[in-house]
Formats: sequence, C-alpha cells, structure tokens
Amino acid sequence: MSRLSLKSLIASGKTALAAGALIVAAACTLNPATGRRQLSLIGEQQEIAMGLQYDKGVTAEFGLYPDEELQKYIQDIGHRLAAVSERPHLPWQFKVVDDDTVNAFAVPGGFIYMTRGILAHFNSEAQLATVMGHEIGHVTARHSVEQISRAQLAQLGVGIATVASEEFRKYSGLADLGLGVLFLKFSRDDESQADSLGMRYLLRTGYDPHEAPRVFEMLERHGQVQGQARLPEWQATHPSPDRRVANLEEMISQLPPEQQEGTIKRNEYLRRLDGMTFGKDPRQGYSVASTFYHPDMAFRMDFPKDWRIVNQRQLVAGVNKDQNAFVVLTLAQGETPQEAERAFFAQEGIRKGPQWRKGFRHFEVTPQTDATGNTPPPIRGTVGFRTHEGHVFRLICYTSADTWKTYSNAMYRSLPSFKRLKDPRYLDVHAKKLKIVKLTRKMSLEQFNRQNPSTIELDALAVLNGVEASEVLPKGTLVKRVVGKDPPKN
Ligand SMILES: [Zn+2]
Repeated sequence: MSRLSLKSLIASGKTALAAGALIVAAACTLNPATGRRQLSLIGEQQEIAMGLQYDKGVTAEFGLYPDEELQKYIQDIGHRLAAVSERPHLPWQFKVVDDDTVNAFAVPGGFIYMTRGILAHFNSEAQLATVMGHEIGHVTARHSVEQISRAQLAQLGVGIATVASEEFRKYSGLADLGLGVLFLKFSRDDESQADSLGMRYLLRTGYDPHEAPRVFEMLERHGQVQGQARLPEWQATHPSPDRRVANLEEMISQLPPEQQEGTIKRNEYLRRLDGMTFGKDPRQGYSVASTFYHPDMAFRMDFPKDWRIVNQRQLVAGVNKDQNAFVVLTLAQGETPQEAERAFFAQEGIRKGPQWRKGFRHFEVTPQTDATGNTPPPIRGTVGFRTHEGHVFRLICYTSADTWKTYSNAMYRSLPSFKRLKDPRYLDVHAKKLKIVKLTRKMSLEQFNRQNPSTIELDALAVLNGVEASEVLPKGTLVKRVVGKDPPKN
C-alpha cells in the first residue's frame, strides 16, 4: 500500500480552508453536557461537516492501524460510552491510528482517535474506556470545536494564499498540513471537565472507576518521550489539572458502594494486544545518519549532512537547522514524469528555469508581499520527477535566493541520490511486537525480564505494565513483553 500521497496532502491542506469557510455567525447555545450557556461559532451540522473533513485528513496523514478486529473492538466500546453521553445522536466514530506516540485526540462532531501507542500502555478495558470517556467529554462539552474555531478565526486574518506560496511556506511538521489545529493545548479547566464527564460515562457503562486514576498516573509516568514523534504526546495537548489523580480519587470515594466496583476486564484486554506492533515501524521509513530508507516502498535517499529528516505519510523532507532550506520527496500528480512536470509548472507563481541535468529543472517563485508591505526575496529551487514502483515521485529542493549559494551544493548531492533500495540489511527490517506472557510462578518484572528479555529498557517496560520493576507479581499474571530488533544503526 502506498504511504505517500500528494493528493491527500493537497486534500488535507484544503480541509483547513474549507472548514474555515463554514464559520458563518456566532450563536449562543446551551451546552448539553455542562448545562452552561456558551458562545458558539459553529452549529452542530457545521461541527459534523468539519469533523468529516478533518477525519479525511487524519486518516490520510496518520493512517489507521491495520487490524480490523481491534478497530471493531474500539468502535464498540466507544459507541457504548457515547450512547450514555449528552450527545448520543452525533455520528460517533472511534479509530486506532497507526502511530507509536502515546496520545488520544478528538475532532469536532464525534471523531475520536487512539494511537496504537496509547493502547499498548493500557492494562485493562476500563483504562481504555477512561481515556475514551475523557475524549468523548471534550466533544460533548464542545471543547474541540471551540478550540478549532478559535484557531481558524486567527487564521482567517492571514488571507488565502495561492497554491504556490502555500506549498512553499516554511514548515515545521504538522502545522503545514492543516492538521496542526488538532493538537492545540486544552486548558486545565477543560481537562478537569473532561475528566469528570469521562468519569460519568465510565460509571454509566458499569466500569470500575478505580482504574481511572491509574491511567492518568501512567500518562504522567510515561511523560515526555525522547526523539522525533510525528504526533505530539498526550502531555503536550492535555495539561494536567492540579491534583488530577487526587481529585479523581476523591470523586470515587464519594460514590455509593454499588458504583465503587465494576467491570475491569484486564486479561481480556491484554490478550487483544498480543502481536500488536510496538514502537516505530521501520517499514514505513527510518534514517541511518543522513540516509533515509523506506523498505515498504523500496527506496533510499541521502539528505544533506546534519539536516533533520522528517518522515510523514505524505512526504519525506530534509530540513536544515535554520529551517529555511528544504529537500522534499513526495508522490506527484500525473501518470508520467512529463505530465507531473507540466502540472507542477502550471501552478500560479512558479517560473520555469533552465534544465539542471537530465530530469531536473530550476524554478523560481515570487513570494507575496506581507502585511507590512515587505516582499521577501524570491524562492529558488530545483525539481525533478522519477518513476519508481509504478508511481511518479517528485524530488524538490528550495530555499530563498539569499541562502541559495550556502545550500545548493548539499541539496544537489541529495536530489539525485533517490534510488531503489536493494540491500537486504536495510530492506529486511520489521517492527517490534508486543507479546503477552502468563507468569508460571510469582516473580518481579525485573526477574521476568532477565528470563525473557525485552528489547526495550526495563523502566519503559515497567511503565508499559503499570507496575514497579521490583514489585512481585502473582503466579498467573499476564505480563507484556516487547520482542524484535531495532533497524541497523549504521
Ligand atoms: Zn483532555
């Protein structure tokens, strides 16, 4: 399956504009979940239309985890929780995103996404339901729609850029794909509210409320993850309300005895994780020094030395430290390289320059005058099109005319280095997997790990299992183990 798609890149970019155009008038409505009056910029039908558009973008950009059974399971639990919420009539959808970061997020209109990374970290169905209930709370209380509409209002002032300048805007990750608005930070008040709404749905569906504080402990413990993540982690988008765990525990202590217990489904949940992909999936691309390998699409490419390599579903890019020079690989529009080149130069504002070498051509883009009346220097670049595995790829490098001399040599070495990947050492790599193992006698996770070593650190394994490494676990406990090797490091 093709992971890169320029078509969907364009689609997701347009999504933000289209959704912005949906804003018509402000209205004051009564929020069903909170009972408060709230100034709302977006009516429910618009909210749903917006959600559908974002859903297309999210699915294209992050991809869904290819496990039908798991998707259905998440969908069922989500629907049970949403059915007892204040907005049961929304077209709720719950999806597992194929990403290793630990996060969950909601799109207005009732679209909720859980990463496979967060699923790997839960230790019961009740814990899963806790986070799903929390995200449902962000939707029922209309936090997501308010947050996104505020961000869009801010964007509207910028004006609509031409396709060309849109494409050559400086970017740093997701913001440029029009999906950045999905990862704005909620306020601590919104978080507290989503916590209590989530608890309400958890109780109404009969789950054990005591599992809820455990989840938030895990998320705190997981904390900031090192390295480049495609998606922000939970901590970055869900600021912790003060005393979150203590507040939840207090809430629980005041519940009547019949609500103090409920469904946990620990073993049943854990068994569903057996064999699940864990951590980054190198088949979707990984870097060794400044070389990028994509085993699934069988190509490799060298990027300029010490540049950051950004690997997204729709593009692979090398970005210099100052973030003003780029080498970008994407799928191109068109059936042939010639057709793709024609489409590229048909864009408004792009001037065709002379040929650089076979299959590559220089170009120049005149930037728009900004709000203060300044016109930045033109953008200079080189573009080429290649056929590989039945797809047309576009190779492009560009920077400002001011910095062209500084970077052109490095960029010129990079562009033609796009080649078929044949070396089995880099081609034959696989993602790590979760394995669920039953303890045959009581032991600590530390002892277990000595007998059945995981290929992640013991600390991380302890967080994954929701225990301390030295804690003695009874015989028969199901334990998570991570197997599989890292891709080559050189
Ligand atoms: Zn939240």
